[in-house]
Parts: sequence; structure tokens; C-alpha cells
Amino acid sequence: MSKLLSTNPADNFAVVGEVEVSSPEEVAAKIAAANKAKTAWKELGVAKRIELLRPIQAEFKQRQAEIAQLITEEIGKPITDSRGEASGYTEEFAWFMDHAEDILKDEITHEDDASVHRIVYEPFGTAAVITPWNFPYGMAIWGIVPNLLAGNAVVFKISEECPLVGKLMADVFANHDLPEGVFAEVYGDGKVGELLTQGDINLIWFTGSSKTGNALYKTAADKFIKAVLEMGGSNPAIVFEDVDIPKAAQLVYDGRFYNCGQVCDATKRLIVHESIKDEFLAELGKLLQSKTLGNPADENTDISSLVAKRQVELLEAQVKDALDKGASVAAKLDVPAQLKGAYYPPTILDNLTKDMRVWQEEVFGPVLPVVAFKDEAQAIRMANDTPYGLGSRVISADRERAERVASKLQAGTVEINEGDRWLLCNPFGGYKNSGMGREHGAIGMRELSQVKVISSSK
Ligand code: NAD
Repeated sequence: MSKLLSTNPADNFAVVGEVEVSSPEEVAAKIAAANKAKTAWKELGVAKRIELLRPIQAEFKQRQAEIAQLITEEIGKPITDSRGEASGYTEEFAWFMDHAEDILKDEITHEDDASVHRIVYEPFGTAAVITPWNFPYGMAIWGIVPNLLAGNAVVFKISEECPLVGKLMADVFANHDLPEGVFAEVYGDGKVGELLTQGDINLIWFTGSSKTGNALYKTAADKFIKAVLEMGGSNPAIVFEDVDIPKAAQLVYDGRFYNCGQVCDATKRLIVHESIKDEFLAELGKLLQSKTLGNPADENTDISSLVAKRQVELLEAQVKDALDKGASVAAKLDVPAQLKGAYYPPTILDNLTKDMRVWQEEVFGPVLPVVAFKDEAQAIRMANDTPYGLGSRVISADRERAERVASKLQAGTVEINEGDRWLLCNPFGGYKNSGMGREHGAIGMRELSQVKVISSSK
């Protein structure tokens, strides 16, 4: 059996713990058990499934402090943010349960004297649920819970960067009375993910990079099964000249630097009107300098380490490419010398050109590339000039203009003058290379269901 070590990226990669990597036989056995369990799980009905999941949510609620601690140790997230993740997504677990019956109930589409027609939502069977590390607990909740509620049996694989959060979650699930085989977890890197998705499954539910999502779309095509893919992003924020500069700078700061910039839906490109660019960058620079870059266990830390050395190296290469091609550093927060691990100095980059990697690729860390625009049409062109289409933001005092721009942006979400809300009532997902299908809300839960029409004479 090989071991998967979990290390602390904010503490010079000290070992936090380990799990056993799942063998091909184990992966196959867990899929077989899920396939055995899936029909009974479907037939149980949504109300009974909710009843079985409620005590699991209650135990997660009780163990929030433990979950937060592990998130901080495994991925270097500041402890106050980890607590927010543990409590916020436990509440979201409850939201899914509170709304599932209504979302999944039969819908009458036609009725006359002679007949009644209705839509019935049925599960696919066994879902392979695969998640990334940036919200170790949150993404797992978003993947596992709606699938189980929709009646799919789940074989889950968490990222190799945070196996201990996954192990804690598996332990909680095992402490309760779910029927055998309905939920199982496998551990390991992408190879284990491949084994899982190439097994005898009926649905792929994936959150992670666009590269992996693309590969999984091909796997799903070969098997002719459905894939729901939530992938990377390079969100633009367009800032017009009529904004309240301190307020808009705060929105852009939060959108870029929260979670050390490691958020799919983060602001990854700032497109600001040329007439306010200098003032805006000065304000952003002031905000950045007011933050504490430190150890994530410290309550006062705002920004901490990245998840892994390879992410630092990727960011270094992307920024070097930009600087070599003429970009300049508008502001930077230095890493204190005593910090050892996967730290990277948060940086604002000015004088960008389209041929730079930071413009063309997803920048998954605390680096903000900035370009100036002259008019609305140019801003829209720049915003859409990306293979991604997850989110986007428009900041302007002119509501009519903001709505007009929103209608032209190629993105799954457009936020006008507000920050990330990720309300579960809304579908979440991307245009273009940011994904396929949606999660959350009625649309998201129905993505996990097959649609059957039963038309019946009276
Ligand atoms: P990743 O694609 O490297 O890994 C994600 C998961 O897929 C991990 O569990 C990994 O082990 C597994 N995996 C890797 N290769 C695989 C393969 N060939 N077959 C099956 N599974 C495989 O992504 P990451 O680095 O963990 O996460 C960061 C990325 O996730 C960013 O691009 C970010 O934008 C994206 N993300 C998207 C959303 C969203 O909702 N759209 C949310 C969070 C993160």
C-alpha cells in the first residue's frame, strides 16, 4: 500500500498526517458496492434520504472547529477564513436538504379532461464526485450532498492536497446509518481519479482545473455518460470612470486576494478606465499594504501561503513572463523573512499586453494583472478576450450602462457593483472553457437527475 502524505504549505511542508492511497481493487470494489446500493437508494425517495442525511450534517456542525483546523493545516488558509468555510458550507448542506424535496418533486406539464402529463426526476445511478483543494470541505459538500439528495450513490475523491479533510468527512459519513455502498471515498492523485472515472459509473461530477475537466469530458464521451464540469476561470472586473474609488477598490481587492487568490471565481483581470487608472492602483496598493501576510494559524493573518510549491513555481513563471515582456509591478506586499513554505508576495501588475501568460491563462494566486481601457466597447472586447467564462464583474454608477455591458459578457455570472455571493438559489457554472452544466439551485440539482415524462390517460 502506498501512502499519501499531507503537508503544511505554510509551515515549511511539515507533515500533518497521511492516508493510504486507494488501490485499483479498492476503487473497483467501492464502485461495485455503489452500483449494488443505487436502486434501493433511488427507491427510498427524497424525504427519506433527507432524514438519513440530517444527522450527518449535525455531526459536521459539531465538528466545525476540527474541520477548520485541518483546512488551515493542509492548505494554509487563514484560520478565520477556514472557520468561515467550515460553518458556511455546513449551513449550505442544510440548504440543500431544505430545498431538495421541492426541487425534485414531480412537475405537471399538461392536464386536460383526458390525460395528465408530468416530469419525474430520477437519479443517474453511481456518481464519481471529484473535487479540488481550494475549499477542501466546501467543494466536497457541493459535490456530495446534492448528488445523494438527487438519489445518486457517490464514490468521492478529494484532492491529494487535503486528504485529511476528506478522511474526516468519510469518518462522519461512516458514523451514521446510510445504507451500505451509498457513500464511499477513495484517496490519491489524478491517477486514482482516472481509475474512478474509467470504472463502471453513470455520472461524472467534477470541480477542478480546465485541463482535467477537458480530459474528463472525453472520458464521459467514450462511455456516453453525462459529465457536470465546474472548471477554471479568468474573471474580468470592469471598472468605469464614475465609480466611488475606495469602494470599488475594496471590491476588486476582495475579489482578487481572498483565499490568497486561489478561487475559481476570483477577479483575475482588472480592466479599468484610463482616466482613473493611476488613482485606482494607488488605492489598491494602499489596501494591499494594510494587510497582514503571515502564518495562517494567527487570527490576525489576512493572506497566507499558497497550497503547494508547484503553485508558487507556476505563479513565478507567469509573472516572469509578464515582466520579461514589459509589465511592471504597481504594488507588492513582501513576504516576511521568517515565513517558510509556499509563500508568494501578493503583486499588482501594470502595463499588460495580450501576449502575456497572466492575460491568457488562469492566474491562481495573489497576482492581479491590470489593463486600461478607453471606451465601453473596448472594455467588453478585453473582458471576453479569454478562453474562460466563469464569472465577471462590472462596477459603475451608471446602472443602464452596467446592464448593457452585463448582457454582452460571456460568463455564467455577472456581478454588478457587488462581490461574490454564491447564493445557492442561483445556478453556478461557466461559459466556454470554464465548464459544462451548472451546480446549485433547481437547475443544479436537476443536472444530477434524468428527466422522465410520464403521460397518463385519466
Ligand atoms: P485539478 O484539476 O488539478 O484537480 C482537481 C481534482 O481532479 C483533484 O482531486 C485531482 O486529483 C483530480 N484529477 C486530476 N487529474 C485527474 C484525471 N486525469 N482524472 C480524474 N481526476 C483527476 O485542479 P486543482 O488544482 O485541484 O484545483 C484548482 C482548479 O480548480 C482551478 O482551476 C480552479 O479555478 C478550479 N475550481 C473551479 C471551481 C468551480 O466551481 N468552477 C471551484 C473551485 C476550483
